Amino acid sequence: MVNLTHKRYWIFDLDGTLTKPVHDFAYIRHELGLQPDVDILSAIAAQPAEEQRTMLARLDELERYYAAQAEPAEGVVELLAKLHENECCLGILTRNTHEFALLSLEAIGAANFFARQDVLGRDEAAPKPSAEGINILLNQWVAPKEKAVMVGDFHFDLLAGRAASVTTIHVDRAERSWPDATDIRVSNLFELCAQLND
Ligand SMILES: [Mg+2]
Repeated sequence: MVNLTHKRYWIFDLDGTLTKPVHDFAYIRHELGLQPDVDILSAIAAQPAEEQRTMLARLDELERYYAAQAEPAEGVVELLAKLHENECCLGILTRNTHEFALLSLEAIGAANFFARQDVLGRDEAAPKPSAEGINILLNQWVAPKEKAVMVGDFHFDLLAGRAASVTTIHVDRAERSWPDATDIRVSNLFELCAQLND
């Protein structure tokens, strides 16, 4: 079992990890005219430029809607306050945009825990499962990867963490597991917070 008390650099996925899951991805795909189960950002990137602009504009509208109604995941403020008290560096790596990530963080009362430059959206780094965003944050912090963790609710979060050689934590609310990409699995953020007291 990995000891989390020595970890100082914490990178979080946002939607569905720090917020309650509200995004209806099936509806988003339908609204964008995409096939069920395709990767939304990759599918948009594969379209001609004109089409991409139209689809990204519609995606923005949908994401603005979801960001404004974001609700905090159980235990989120307790966890972030504990990490803050332990003087950890905190960052966000999301496939959403920087602007909507800030809006969501405001909505859940967690904006004060994150410096703006440590909130990376899809325009600041290649989307997960790329490790680029994690590496950008570790460079900004001059942080050794041995002291860093990536926390998320989806396979891509864990794959990005693996690709960056940091510890991966799966917040598993849907009972879907990816054991090959997961170092620690918890069912909620309270459970994660409890591991900081060991
Ligand atoms: Mg997520």
